[in-house]
Amino acid sequence: MDRQQEFVLRTIEERDVRFVRMWFTDVVGSLKSVALAPAEVEAAFEEGLGFDGSSIEGLSRVSEADMLLQPDPSTFQILPWRGETEPTARMFCNILTPDGEPASSDPRGVLKRVLEKASDMGFTCYTAPEIEFYLLKSADLDAEGQPVPVDHEGYFDHVPGGVVQDFRRKAVNMLEAVGISVEFSHHEAGPGQNEIDLRYADALQTADNIMTFRTVIKEVALAQGLYATFMPKPFTEHPGSGMHTHFSLFEGDTNAFFDGGSEFRLSRTARHFIAGILRHAPEFTSVTNQFVNSYKRLWGGGEAPSYLSWGHNNRSALVRVPLSKPDKVQAARIEYRGIDSATNPYLSYAALLAAGLQGIENEYDLPPVELDDVAAMSSAERRALGHNPLPSSLYDAIRETEESEFMAELLGEQVYDYFLRNKRRDWNDYRRVVTPFELKNNLGIL
Ligand code: GLU
Ligand code: MG
Ligand code: MG
Repeated sequence: MDRQQEFVLRTIEERDVRFVRMWFTDVVGSLKSVALAPAEVEAAFEEGLGFDGSSIEGLSRVSEADMLLQPDPSTFQILPWRGETEPTARMFCNILTPDGEPASSDPRGVLKRVLEKASDMGFTCYTAPEIEFYLLKSADLDAEGQPVPVDHEGYFDHVPGGVVQDFRRKAVNMLEAVGISVEFSHHEAGPGQNEIDLRYADALQTADNIMTFRTVIKEVALAQGLYATFMPKPFTEHPGSGMHTHFSLFEGDTNAFFDGGSEFRLSRTARHFIAGILRHAPEFTSVTNQFVNSYKRLWGGGEAPSYLSWGHNNRSALVRVPLSKPDKVQAARIEYRGIDSATNPYLSYAALLAAGLQGIENEYDLPPVELDDVAAMSSAERRALGHNPLPSSLYDAIRETEESEFMAELLGEQVYDYFLRNKRRDWNDYRRVVTPFELKNNLGIL
């Protein structure tokens, strides 16, 4: 029993915690939870908690259905929305095979493997997500089949007494209460659309935080009689919900992305990192943008990136180098704008970091910076400048991943196969559906 485990057991006793939820994430990024009686926690630390993995999306083949959950004591947290009396706590878990080895199907394990590689190269990876989502009156649609947003405000709007401000205050307080530091929160461009930006943390902790964040946001919305959605593009006419993420690599206390003497103060390490991301982005887009609907965001305007490019003040860029505090060495970082709010954060961060690390390892050359709006160029101009498109549909994205050795190696055989199978099923289900678009445009004429 180590000190963190002892601390957890002591806290459970002192606070009289009644339920300890074991949290883990399936391959498509859904949070799973099993509540444990406090008396069982010690054994879960020591031997893991057995469960049947075959009924969880992508966790195991039926022939090896028995799996173990091993709680990570550093993630122990009391869940404030469950109330003060009879408190409930949670821990994120690693998934193990029956003989105690890390399960190759565990998305958290995929990210941990990449972080180990980064650490072997001397790097700690920090990430900070800007999470966008829509706040709706309910999960029901109106008479026209559209979602109903809570308000009709826009970017940075501040309306005294607004229901959304109330919501954001409660949400931010609740996030802080579970140990998630919030840097900014504001209204986004769409009606009912909000954004909450988390303070940077180690990449594994950020991914855990994102899973907690989604739960907190949904709980706070429900408590106010509202509904929050992380769907990438709920409205045709309004921007989608991205989850832009800022990345930096540190060597000890030194920001490895900073070099005061070079263009945009970007070190060689940072330039290779961006080059790696640009090279592999089409291959990992099925992961960062995993739903049919994700491609409505990427190709629906609303400041979402559609082409491979990098820039600094250019919101059409896939990778942006923020320069708002150019002399703050520790703040040097890059922002990936492609990813959406419905991704599995473990797999996405694993892919982005692994791509960047490949760029560093192989010293990939960074293409020239793009200062213009890539979306406004003609396709001939874009081709001449090398701004190839991101996949334009889930189908295209699946094809890229299927042909990618990088992705096969990154995810490992089991996650790779299962993920692709799951996504092919999504695409096949979708392509047979006759949509309102077709009925509107074809029925009356043909
Ligand atoms: N909502 C936009 C997106 O889908 C991003 C807007 C912004 O720059 O924050 O990526
Ligand atoms: Mg935003
Ligand atoms: Mg951003």
